[in-house]
Amino acid sequence: MTLPRDDMNPFEAVTWCFDRAANRLRIDEDLQELMRLPWRELKAEVPVRLDNGRIKVFIGYRIQHNGARGPYKGGIRYHPLADADEVRALASLMTWKTALADIPFGGAKGGVQCNPSELSEGELNRLTRRYTQSISHILGANRDIPAPDLGTDSQVMAWMMDAYGQLHGHTPAIVTGKPVELGGSYGRDAAPGRGAMFCLGQWARLAGKDLRGMTVGIQGFGQVGSWIARLVGELGCKVIAVSDIKGGIINSKGLDISKLLQHTKESRSVVGFRETEPLTNEELLECPCDILVPAAVGEVIHAKNADRVRAKIIVEGANHPVTPAADLILANRGVTLLPDILVNAGGVAVSYFEWAQNIQEFRWTEERVNQELQGIMNRACTQVFDLAHKEKVTLREAAFMIGVQRVARAEQLRGFV
Ligand code: GLU
Repeated sequence: MTLPRDDMNPFEAVTWCFDRAANRLRIDEDLQELMRLPWRELKAEVPVRLDNGRIKVFIGYRIQHNGARGPYKGGIRYHPLADADEVRALASLMTWKTALADIPFGGAKGGVQCNPSELSEGELNRLTRRYTQSISHILGANRDIPAPDLGTDSQVMAWMMDAYGQLHGHTPAIVTGKPVELGGSYGRDAAPGRGAMFCLGQWARLAGKDLRGMTVGIQGFGQVGSWIARLVGELGCKVIAVSDIKGGIINSKGLDISKLLQHTKESRSVVGFRETEPLTNEELLECPCDILVPAAVGEVIHAKNADRVRAKIIVEGANHPVTPAADLILANRGVTLLPDILVNAGGVAVSYFEWAQNIQEFRWTEERVNQELQGIMNRACTQVFDLAHKEKVTLREAAFMIGVQRVARAEQLRGFV
């Protein structure tokens, strides 16, 4: 087996998945070129007056990858590693994700290279407003709609909506993932985790697997990981290990998640939770669990550790947590991998519901949101599963093939080519 390079930058890695799908679909080379690169990229200086009186200049991006199927859609990441290649990769993943979920959006992503944990609330508010002003001319409720991602939350979205509203008038549909009090949707917070759980449940039904009693290890205890931890018990699974940026914990008998949430609230980390053994983030990926959920940053499973992953099922809560080389190693070893653009599509699906509710000036109940979310996740999961079997490809290849095909069709219908 010839492995692809393991040192690809994140955009090259997503493009590798795109190329593989587009070639299998025999998509015309000209059309492939049109779909491969982002349609528009904006890089902006984001100067912020710090609390100590000095000015610090951050670099911000908004990259609009593809808008053939609808307005650009995707989160805003505040992270030291949110550089152009990373944001470009995440933007292209949004294109394939929205197409796979069959929601009427294109793909985009934004980012500011910063460490939000080192900034005060006032500094974060000023940074968000300045960043929003710098990109506001390419945003719009029918053009490009941001949302939260790593390092941002509903508060940041409230500031974005406010900063945009100061320039253009009150426009709730300009961002999703807002606080419920400001037009956010019920169920949006839990959506990436709940969607992942629906997806895992549906895959198990289709594959005839019994998940009851299976052990789960989760890397990342943020918006995605902590909600998966809360909900995966509904499938009969037992979480035995979790980690966050400060380190991890394990207890092979299982963790009491509600007590763990209380502990993280008080000590701002999972580390030190009683009756557990410590483990590092790297060790978590190799811990003896049945289901591994990388739900933090990208590229944590690569050619050097893919052989040591002991789980038989990987659920990609994070975006691109597995490099293309590791993907092949895992597939060769018979590990089932539920891919990011399918697993974590729940976040953007409920973002779509939020946007639709804002436009209609109407609010859905949480029950309705969760029910519609389950419909989207089950449908996408079944389509991926069926195509993977029909074409004898991995679930990732099938997921990309469906997304890429839909975008290609939209481009043809619009008459670009
Ligand atoms: N940041 C999330 C993602 O990667 C959600 C994006 C959205 O809701 O627009 O899918």
